[in-house]
Amino acid sequence: MHDVIILGSGPAGLTAALYAARAHLKPLVVDGHEAGGQLTLTTMVENYPGFPDGLMGPDLIASMRKQSERFGAAFRPGNATAVALSRRPFRVTIDGAVEECRALIIATGASAKLLGLPSERKLMGHGVSTCATCDGFFFQDQEIIVVGGGDSAMEEAIFLTKFARRVSVLHRRDKLRASKIMQERAFKNPKIDFTWDSTIEEILDVREGKVTGVRIRHLQTSEITERPVDGIFIAIGHSPNTQIFRGLLEMDEVGYITTHDGTKTSVPGVFAAGDVQDRAYRQAVTAAGSGCMAAIDAERFLEHGAH
Ligand code: NAP
Repeated sequence: MHDVIILGSGPAGLTAALYAARAHLKPLVVDGHEAGGQLTLTTMVENYPGFPDGLMGPDLIASMRKQSERFGAAFRPGNATAVALSRRPFRVTIDGAVEECRALIIATGASAKLLGLPSERKLMGHGVSTCATCDGFFFQDQEIIVVGGGDSAMEEAIFLTKFARRVSVLHRRDKLRASKIMQERAFKNPKIDFTWDSTIEEILDVREGKVTGVRIRHLQTSEITERPVDGIFIAIGHSPNTQIFRGLLEMDEVGYITTHDGTKTSVPGVFAAGDVQDRAYRQAVTAAGSGCMAAIDAERFLEHGAH
């Protein structure tokens, strides 16, 4: 029986682990299917306070993990596949094995969204990617399309210019959602161009087993064009990893867990931190901050039954 189980090992889970460990709660952290979370898929992080020269996302995560281990947090690889929250102790199934806990912190984050085309799934890893840091290297001197208009799309596009000959950002509107600073960087990069008001109709060519081009629909004129490309990076945002909590915890219409009074969920003793409950900010530092709050809330709950 654990005092606290923490699901997820991104900045929210690791900060919760640090605070819970320092409160002598001996937390068990379940890594999740993307150990370390989204920061492990990124390069330079320039907006995490305390690092004036920036630092690499995977290095930041490795340091946070080490820091929590120093105070006694235990880590377990694997994924929570089911939870029972109707009475305490809560039961968490981790790849077939059941663990029990008196308080649960959910920090399972969010995962990359896809366009939903069958060709996209079939060609994933064969020219289609959701992670420039992971796959950019394979596209030396090639032509790439990045889909999306947010900060992620700009970051991916800028990073990919290190390898690619040309990067086209394809966006469904004629205005970017990305922050001003990221827009400016992308606009002034000579290797990046923009295709506005457009969406991908089909990725070619499933029969060849690799990306050779795309069929693009212009959303104003409905005109369809084909363009040869070697790679497609999908950067259209994320959806929360909350499937196993459906029907057990209150959520909003797209599945973000609803929290109140800090990190409390609709079930006393269950707390949520980071991107899994945050549609608005979704930053490493806000995730870390809410992980700290979740550990303090869990500690108070265990001490006083406060919820
Ligand atoms: P986002 O801000 O939600 O942007 C998603 C983009 O994809 C939007 O431009 C959206 O178009 C487009 N899109 C969504 N669904 C689509 C679909 N089905 N087909 C085509 N296009 C679609 O997501 P994000 O860029 O991943 O950023 C998430 C959060 O992380 C933000 O808060 C961001 O500031 C932060 N972030 C920050 C940095 C940084 O500071 N360097 C880097 C990465 C992420 P519309 O604009 O039309 O909705």
